[in-house]
Amino acid sequence: MQVIQRLPIHLSNQIAAGEVVQRPASVVKELLENAIDAGAAEIVVHIKDGGRTLISITDNGSGMQPDDALLCFERHATSKISVIDDLFKLSTMGFRGEALASIGAVAQVDLKTRTQAQHTGIQIRFHAGKIVQKEEIICAKGTSIEVKNLFFNIPARRNFLKSDGIEFHHIEDAFLCIALAHPEVAFVLRQNNQPIYNLEISNLKKRVSDVLGKGGSDKLFPISSETDIVTIHGYLGKPETARKTRGNQYFFVNRRFFKSSYFHHAVQSAFEGLIPEKTFPSYYIFFEIDPSKIDVNIHPTKTEIKFDEERFIYTLLHSTIRQSLGKFNLMPSLDFEIETAFDLPPSFRNQPINAPVIRVDPNYNPFQQESKVGKAYSSAIHQQGFSSTPQNEEEWSALYQIIEPPKGDISLFNDHDGLGKDFLVVGKFIFIPVRLGLMVIDIKRALERVLYDESISAFVKQPLPVQPLLFPLEKQMENQELRILKMHQKVFEQLGFKIEIREDFLIIEGVPAMLQEEGIMACIDTMMERMEYQDQHQEDLAHLLMAALVKNAARYHKFANNSEIQLIIDKLFRSKDFQQSPNNESIISTLDLNHITLLFK
Ligand code: ADP
Ligand code: MG
Repeated sequence: MQVIQRLPIHLSNQIAAGEVVQRPASVVKELLENAIDAGAAEIVVHIKDGGRTLISITDNGSGMQPDDALLCFERHATSKISVIDDLFKLSTMGFRGEALASIGAVAQVDLKTRTQAQHTGIQIRFHAGKIVQKEEIICAKGTSIEVKNLFFNIPARRNFLKSDGIEFHHIEDAFLCIALAHPEVAFVLRQNNQPIYNLEISNLKKRVSDVLGKGGSDKLFPISSETDIVTIHGYLGKPETARKTRGNQYFFVNRRFFKSSYFHHAVQSAFEGLIPEKTFPSYYIFFEIDPSKIDVNIHPTKTEIKFDEERFIYTLLHSTIRQSLGKFNLMPSLDFEIETAFDLPPSFRNQPINAPVIRVDPNYNPFQQESKVGKAYSSAIHQQGFSSTPQNEEEWSALYQIIEPPKGDISLFNDHDGLGKDFLVVGKFIFIPVRLGLMVIDIKRALERVLYDESISAFVKQPLPVQPLLFPLEKQMENQELRILKMHQKVFEQLGFKIEIREDFLIIEGVPAMLQEEGIMACIDTMMERMEYQDQHQEDLAHLLMAALVKNAARYHKFANNSEIQLIIDKLFRSKDFQQSPNNESIISTLDLNHITLLFK
């Protein structure tokens, strides 16, 4: 008996759909690419309920003739490729002819389209891979596609979707990847009838700053560089705008978004010494390159791309950024002179070069967040443009500062009384003699654990106590950050923050009582970082945020006296997780006889 059968078409489309359509954002990406390929000058996107109820995309591009419109939902139906050679010189976004067939297989799709040449258009209703209705209609030139009830016929998939907020976040990402690369096209994005973006036709600089929100253009500086191999241009955020959240980092090759940790490293290292550690500059960088010199992974959802001349491009990118930083007076002179030794791209050769100015932020304290002395030293050197050995008194004193342990961490007490009854305090460590040897406790981490345990259970029931601020703090936010904030405003309040969003400003009117003033901004940054792209369940998020809060609370806590320390130690040992801080760092270590014997070898 024959056992091999062909899969029915609708089933094989459903399987293929699993690859192309992972979530609502993938639908948005594919439909936007089609609209761009159709030469649209304006594209309007409307989303309902994170895309699960409705994704509607309307463009004023070429439209389709009725015959094409009927064909376009078939697998491998594409107008964009006819000979295999075309694959290597693609200038269009899509070419596999798979997207519409896949989307059609897992949703209810309504297509309306008309070309310039025709008076009437056609409407086609598509239901789980089958045409259920078609009729002649009056409609505008272009194409409008409504995708309703995504995954309605695959419940497992539908249940797998995250909250509307998270799905919308992914949609916004997909939207921005395309809108940023096509400033000559107007874009509108709406969710549940609320306008989110309204981007008019413009140039790249304006597009980027429109996306950033108010005051965006002041935050940017341009780069550009031309060689035979590759052309690089784009905009980067000035060093002072670097953030802890990794949000606005975009690479495009031939206007196609891609990810590259290798090139990311080139950018990050170009900013070395100019931005605090663990912060990220934003960037919008475009590469133009002969398509035969790259390998576009034709897998629909992969965004990695292989470049033949990867190392050259890395070096060029790095030096292009360094040059611009120098040219726009954004870094100390020393580095600038070294970098100009690199072969200058033609566009820079004949330009007068401004005398670079050294800008040192007097408030920036490289030791504040450093724990490792070596790192602090090297960043001090970068920060101040020092050469390898200190030359004068000022430089020596900078060095001296780090040989002496950094302040803030060392003085745990207000009264400087280091000796307790049963323990000894040295720096942030508590030494306790025990039967096996010497127990060492990191008191800040101990405090994190205690605060965490006390707050996490209370927090589920009612908001944590708020400490109103005498003078509210303000922080200007970028569009995407605002959205993250709004999405999680409730959680912030639950944690004891009293915040308000006014236009593009975050106003902080009150903070959790456990938090010291110095820790507020860092705490909010870390929390935002954890909220961004969090795909966890809410409980995990609550844990991550609480862990961030207690970390920043403990960091600046001043212990009043030894009894307070004693109390924390007592509470610590009552916790079932006394070994590990909520941020997964170890709290306790015991030096036993073996350790100690080794020290005397
Ligand atoms: P691909 O984009 O890979 O060709 P799709 O399944 O995305 O495959 O689309 C199939 C075909 O439908 C396209 O090649 C194009 O001819 C047509 N098409 C899709 N969307 C549009 C649109 N918005 N405007 C005009 N034609 C479109
Ligand atoms: Mg396509």
